[in-house]
Amino acid sequence: MIPLSVPNVSGREWEYVKDCLDTGWISTAGSYVSRFEEEFAKRVGSEGAVSLMNGTSALHLSLKAVGVQSGELVVIPNVTFVATANAVSYLGADPVLVDVEESHWQMDLKLLEEYLRFDCERKGEELFEKLSMRRVAAILIVHLQGGMCDIHKLKGLCDEFGLPLVEDAAEALGSTIEGRCAGTIGRVGCFSFNGNKIISTGGGGMVVSDDAALIKTIRHLATTAKTDPLRYYHDQVGYNYRMVNVLSAIGLAQLESLDTFIAKKRSIADFYRTNLSDVGDIGFQKILPNVESNEWLFTVRTSKSTDLIEFLNKEGVMSRPFWFPMSKLPMYETSRYVSNADTSSILHTEGVSIPCSTSITERELSEVVRKIKYFFAR
Ligand SMILES: *Cc1c(COP(=O)(O)O)cnc(C)c1O
Repeated sequence: MIPLSVPNVSGREWEYVKDCLDTGWISTAGSYVSRFEEEFAKRVGSEGAVSLMNGTSALHLSLKAVGVQSGELVVIPNVTFVATANAVSYLGADPVLVDVEESHWQMDLKLLEEYLRFDCERKGEELFEKLSMRRVAAILIVHLQGGMCDIHKLKGLCDEFGLPLVEDAAEALGSTIEGRCAGTIGRVGCFSFNGNKIISTGGGGMVVSDDAALIKTIRHLATTAKTDPLRYYHDQVGYNYRMVNVLSAIGLAQLESLDTFIAKKRSIADFYRTNLSDVGDIGFQKILPNVESNEWLFTVRTSKSTDLIEFLNKEGVMSRPFWFPMSKLPMYETSRYVSNADTSSILHTEGVSIPCSTSITERELSEVVRKIKYFFAR
């Protein structure tokens, strides 16, 4: 079976983990935790970083740190991994789901603007949804599959309506827009090192921000809100969300390979775009001209997606459909959904992710293309 997207452990992981084990520093204290945080912040161009146990906890604490409270609303795209919406729910808030744009699959900023301008109203410094009179507390943008939306327009809307921008950059480590890394554009950015992400610590996450106070708050919340290193004093309900030294050691080694991985992901995407462009009714995600995607998970569109997925999996080529839109999951089907054409559902019906591990060989890539061509020629 040619896997979809698996971790690639080919750098100094062994060496660094052995160091942890040899010295006995395996838990949350240990030099790899801060080294990984420092190197990560440097790589994406951010002032500070906090490593956490997964991307979901990064989203949870980021939303909390920018002031999202129970009963409030957070705007998210309707197409994302469920963790984005769940992080909102953990705070007792509710997501407002905005449909995505047909060509690049990111949040449709026209729909976002209409919602903010016509369905919400200002009261002093704050923004409220007219219908429910609930406060809109933040915008949580997702850089889907490593692509990005028109960030200038998005930032303009956040500024105009006084909303903090939180970035779910779980899929977009190393993607840039006009040279700036995904995750460093809003007030705070979140990353994931889950098994299928571009770098992996098995499970892990990171928050980055230029705001030192915000970083301090998130570190505090993630460390059970402990205020005194000796006596057990905690000043609020905190969380046990920190990453451990062994995993930070893996993370540091993975980070050293990031540029190689991105180059490989881009060459895989180039190969597929070149070789599949005239095959059947296959279409691709559009990348905006000022964006350089990390090409994390290569996904095509076709009206024959169900049959294609079944065929490929039977033929030893792992493939997966695109996520269910949030609006179609039982927990979120009553959430406000801002949409004209329900593009999210079309993408869900048509999306097919195909193998793109950084360890994939040229032979395997040709095999995938050959099988897809065969499917459409039948
Ligand atoms: C992977 C992912 C997450 C969650 O990351 P975990 O580390 O699995 O908790 C969040 N959002 C998006 C868009 C993701 O792809």
